[in-house]
Amino acid sequence: MTEHIAFIDLQAQRRRLGSRLDKAIQRVLTHGMFILGPETDELEQQLATFTGAKYVVTCANGTDALHLCLMMEEISPGDAVFVPAFTFSATAEVVVLVGAVPIFVDVLPDTFNMDPVSLEAAIRDAKRQGLKPRAVIPVDLFGQPADYSSLLTVASDHGLLVVADAAQSFGASLDGKPVGTLADCTTTSFFPAKPLGCYGDGGAILVCDQERNTILRSLRAHGKGDNKYDNIRVGMNSRLDTLQAAILIEKLAVFPGEIAARQKVARRYTEALSGVVQAPAVMPGATSVWAQYTIQVANRDQIIASLKKVGIPTAVYYPLPLNRQKAYRHLPTVPGGVPVSERLANQVLSLPMHPYLAPNMQDRIVEELRKAASGV
Ligand SMILES: *Cc1c(COP(=O)(O)O)cnc(C)c1O
Repeated sequence: MTEHIAFIDLQAQRRRLGSRLDKAIQRVLTHGMFILGPETDELEQQLATFTGAKYVVTCANGTDALHLCLMMEEISPGDAVFVPAFTFSATAEVVVLVGAVPIFVDVLPDTFNMDPVSLEAAIRDAKRQGLKPRAVIPVDLFGQPADYSSLLTVASDHGLLVVADAAQSFGASLDGKPVGTLADCTTTSFFPAKPLGCYGDGGAILVCDQERNTILRSLRAHGKGDNKYDNIRVGMNSRLDTLQAAILIEKLAVFPGEIAARQKVARRYTEALSGVVQAPAVMPGATSVWAQYTIQVANRDQIIASLKKVGIPTAVYYPLPLNRQKAYRHLPTVPGGVPVSERLANQVLSLPMHPYLAPNMQDRIVEELRKAASGV
């Protein structure tokens, strides 16, 4: 019998962390401060040290982290916010939730991240339509940072706030600068399957501006002022549970090693798959944390079926660009549309990827993929 291959193996990490996690959970059960307890503060400090961001505000999940940034900036009806068409729905969802208009921008074919030229065209068109461009949310898809130096130039030409959606790239870097310091605000998610995940929902916002830090802390707790029963703005209930913070502190301790292991797995895939399928590219100057290892293939359905037959799981992120989703298709897209996003949605395929993927398992995946890709 062949060994089971997991798409993401969270149990391998659980076994490694063993009693350290149990003890961390036990400590919270003993002190009983379940909301904004001492572990939440400690985690925020550790995440700030880890990234070099001045302030870290944890919250309930990565979607709220984005939503809170838009609330902080008072983005509202009549405003336009630019998002890539090829991303998870949350990136556009929060824009609609604050009453603004998301405008779908195309991505680059090699990195899957927002195309600065498409962004510029979308901004000009939004202005022509009488909308007020306010912010852009580049996404660091599959673990590598977007091209922030180009995107920041376009954003600053038009006075836009840049909110980096780093739900998939926490721990990565660009030109030696860690994710968390590359944009005005950075959001991330600790959903279990993300590179740094907890055991439930969790998220954080990273900023370098003190006033933004203060507003975000107020917004995540019902718009509090000096105390909980002083409400100076309309906010949300969006805090990270102390239990999740305690779990994340233990996971953060092994995270640098896990990132290195992910990068090793990715290197092995890329070497073995050269000439077989189109492997993912990392921009010069960037590092990826490989939230996903995503190849491009023309005959995707057939490859998925062949791999499934031999027990190898795969996933498609994302089968539809957002401009084609029922909830979002009535919303504006950059003039000329998003042809790269459309093509990628038909061709991308993500392979098993996690820090504990053993070389022999990976060899089996590569071997079966070779066979499937050549139609043997
Ligand atoms: C996971 C994810 C989110 C949302 O995070 P949650 O914690 O699940 O709310 C947002 N954007 C991207 C790109 C994601 O991958």
